[in-house]
Amino acid sequence: MSVFRRFRRLLRIGPVQVGTAYDGRGRERHTAACTAPRCGFSAEYDSRAAAELAARTHRCPVR
Ligand SMILES: [Zn+2]
Repeated sequence: MSVFRRFRRLLRIGPVQVGTAYDGRGRERHTAACTAPRCGFSAEYDSRAAAELAARTHRCPVR
């Protein structure tokens, strides 16, 4: 997925991809995004744990 190109520490949990990136001011941003084509779930979190938890608990409406 091109949206994750600048991300580090990529992790896949079920259909959800979790990645960490720096924003323009050097802070870490943690993103969870579903890879199912018609789902569209994507969210940013302040902590890696929160992003991974969101990935684990995501109930994908596509499946
Ligand atoms: Zn989904």
